[in-house]
Amino acid sequence: MNTQDTRTFSFELFPPKTPEGMEKLKGTVAELNAAGPAYFSCTYGAGGSTRERTFETVDWLCSQGIETAPHLACIGSDEAEIRDIVDHYISLGIHRIVALRGDMPSGMGRSGLGTFRYANELVSFLRREYGDRFHIEVAAYPEFHPQAPNANADLANFKRKVEAGADAAITQYFYNPDAYFEFVELCEEQDIQIPVVPGIMPITNYTQLARFSDACGAEIPRYIRKRLEAYGDDKASIRAFGHEVALDLCRRLLEGGAPGLHFYTMNQAEAPLALWRELELPSAA
Ligand code: FAD
Repeated sequence: MNTQDTRTFSFELFPPKTPEGMEKLKGTVAELNAAGPAYFSCTYGAGGSTRERTFETVDWLCSQGIETAPHLACIGSDEAEIRDIVDHYISLGIHRIVALRGDMPSGMGRSGLGTFRYANELVSFLRREYGDRFHIEVAAYPEFHPQAPNANADLANFKRKVEAGADAAITQYFYNPDAYFEFVELCEEQDIQIPVVPGIMPITNYTQLARFSDACGAEIPRYIRKRLEAYGDDKASIRAFGHEVALDLCRRLLEGGAPGLHFYTMNQAEAPLALWRELELPSAA
């Protein structure tokens, strides 16, 4: 890596549901790892719903000597469970955690909320109990979190996570670079100084993307939706158009000073690697 380049480029995975999925993921990671990402992160289901599968994936990544950042979602877990998980990660030599609230699994009442209600409480706990052991990433929402009463309250909550000790943030995905640049400007006005790394969702499947976006409040601009809808089942055209959209977004973000990119891979190598290559991103190796 260019020693002057402090930007961080990383890949996100989710824990596969089946042994076949896990075998496939190993091949995907080998392909992605050849590009030289700074780290791989792995998602975690709130309430411990993916605990064993996340452990399996994280254990395997660590056994390969790969820099790994497990996600840790606190909602629905008590302090003892969180401590067990963190201790397991320490035993694996992990130094990086993506600290989240998570979303309550459906069917769990308020009594099952757990010890930590918001991500800032988890970050405070990690700092209090483990000092500077971990580089802590938190989530940021350039288009604002869907449950926030308003943009100012959401920004104040983001600031609370930073003051609790977060080192950096990864954003929810978005397709409008202005949303990101405006958010970064708001952060500067609030004296929030940590790097805010854009999360990039490659576009490969319109139905899936529309479903995710509805759930997490990420806007798909109308012109993108209309173009994707018009392709119908033509997967090749969806991928080609999706690639151009994501490439243009990444270029604008990097030209505008983004401190890196975090790719939501959906456990697929092809689309994020095509972006990585065309952007000529540096290898961290
Ligand atoms: P918080 O920062 O706690 O915010 C949640 C909501 O509460 C916001 O509306 C905020 O404004 C409000 N809020 C925050 N603090 C307070 C407070 N003290 N008082 C009142 N309101 C407050 N989900 C998973 O389950 N597993 C994952 O692995 C996962 N990985 C993710 C990775 C990234 C990069 C991103 C962007 C999201 C991820 N998510 C994951 C989704 C995330 O858990 C949800 O978006 C969740 O709804 C919010 O989590 P958070 O950590 O941002 O919560």
